[in-house]
Amino acid sequence: MKVSIDKTKCIMCGSCVAICPEVFEMKDDGSVDVKDQYKGVDIQDPILVEKIKQAQLACPATAIVTEG
Ligand code: SF4
Repeated sequence: MKVSIDKTKCIMCGSCVAICPEVFEMKDDGSVDVKDQYKGVDIQDPILVEKIKQAQLACPATAIVTEG
């Protein structure tokens, strides 16, 4: 599964970071993004995939985009 954040939608609430800090991070300026090591990567770890799905469901702005 590949994951990215639509920055035009993200309201920087931090929920995804709280749910899955392995993949999502809040930058010093308060913006939230996928960690560099996971950008464009097809994530296979089933635990991470499940946590990403949970973060996606919890995102109040439907800003988490997944494919695969
Ligand atoms: S949960 Fe959604 S709106 Fe909140 S920081 Fe993450 S991507 Fe942005």
